[in-house]
Amino acid sequence: MNTFYIETFGCQMNAHDSEKVIGTLLSQGYRQVGKPDEADLVLYNTCSIRDKAEQKVFHRLQEFKRHNQGKVFGVLGCVAQQEGERIFERAPHVSLVAGSASYSKLPQMLVQLESGNRRVTGLTFDNDQAFETPFTRRDNPHRAYITIIEGCDKSCAYCVVPFTRGPERSRTSESVLHEARELARMGYVEIQLLGQNVNSYRDPSPAGWDFARLLRAVGEVDGIRRVRFTTSHPRDFVKDIVDAIDENPALCNHVHLPVQSGSSSVLNRMQRLYTRSEYMRRIEWMKNARREISITTDIIVGFPGETEADFEQTLALLEEVEYDSLFSFKYSRRPSTAALDLADQVTEEEKTRRLTILQEKQRAIQIRRNSDLVGQVEEAFVEGYNQATGQWIGRTTQNRTLNFVHPHHAAPGAEATLAGTFWNVRVTRAGPNSLAGEVLG
Ligand code: SAM
Ligand code: SF4
Repeated sequence: MNTFYIETFGCQMNAHDSEKVIGTLLSQGYRQVGKPDEADLVLYNTCSIRDKAEQKVFHRLQEFKRHNQGKVFGVLGCVAQQEGERIFERAPHVSLVAGSASYSKLPQMLVQLESGNRRVTGLTFDNDQAFETPFTRRDNPHRAYITIIEGCDKSCAYCVVPFTRGPERSRTSESVLHEARELARMGYVEIQLLGQNVNSYRDPSPAGWDFARLLRAVGEVDGIRRVRFTTSHPRDFVKDIVDAIDENPALCNHVHLPVQSGSSSVLNRMQRLYTRSEYMRRIEWMKNARREISITTDIIVGFPGETEADFEQTLALLEEVEYDSLFSFKYSRRPSTAALDLADQVTEEEKTRRLTILQEKQRAIQIRRNSDLVGQVEEAFVEGYNQATGQWIGRTTQNRTLNFVHPHHAAPGAEATLAGTFWNVRVTRAGPNSLAGEVLG
């Protein structure tokens, strides 16, 4: 067993977990391959946040059920933690089932697989430390993720994360800063701090830093030009974070602050721990900041008992905040969660109707807000090159996509020269999801 293939589903946390898993496997002498057919070990790093995400994994496993050709299969991540040993019954060709809280034991689990054990599990939450490894394998040479806190201590009524990722474990500020400095030394210019709820970060070392303190320190690391963070829970989002953004231009002026609903009664039943007006207070802090902070959010439509009036309050909130972008989801019933057995489930048809209305409203807001930027100059960080359009793909500090042409760098193959660099770009066109412009001469 010396080659492996890994497919990752779900959020940035999962994508970054996979980078750590890949690094660990490489350090154990494994070689990564690009197709499951070529691999001895096939891993799926899974997501179970919504029903559809979970189904995808079993669909993948089903594809190999008959022709597994002696391969070893492993299910990692949220579905592994949620379904546990039931996966062995549902997909008997699977040999490894491990949740993210057990990744520090991966080397031992690999030894067990190599010695022929075909029922290897890592499902306990007995680890009170975050998974740290010197072997993280990052594919992007310019932007790096750093996990600062794992797990979640909230209990939102719809959410599986506390069950699949376990209780909160923060890393020490020293180890986060060491990693940030090391990344800067390697040439990384952007860092994204990750956690299910970065705002409840608490340095476990005697320094005892909170999130705003850590954010400031990462923003001061020499060579790091941009720092982003996700996700923020409104309950733990303090004004000091806005002050930190105001003070240091390396901290991107973008905050993703998931609201989930504009109705206080729905928020209460969701156990979100804030009201609409408490949420709006946080929005006010950002609107009153010296820098213009871009605000994005997550919305769930059709939570059990959500009335038409509740939904209209969510639509009104969109207008009031004027989000720059949002992720919207139909409520999905999840095992073990408090909302699972709530009465008054909203029909699938109604959820679809509300989602469509919400997305149309948001599209109009984005067209309006992006149009206001035409004529302005924005700094774009180049992420790649689009051969089809002949444009560089850039991102602004506010996290907008800004595609642009460059008079001296338009030749084929030029992408290697601009990726990872910054350019001042005048915005000439705006669409609902991106901007286009020209580099300043
Ligand atoms: N920790 C983040 C927070 O508190 O906002 C969210 C993490 S979750 C991976 C990302 C988003 O998925 C949530 O903000 C929520 O909108 C959505 N989500 C979570 N559970 C869901 C469910 N059961 N049905 C629909 N959407 C869900
Ligand atoms: Fe899930 Fe709520 Fe924790 Fe976010 S804060 S991960 S939505 S339980």
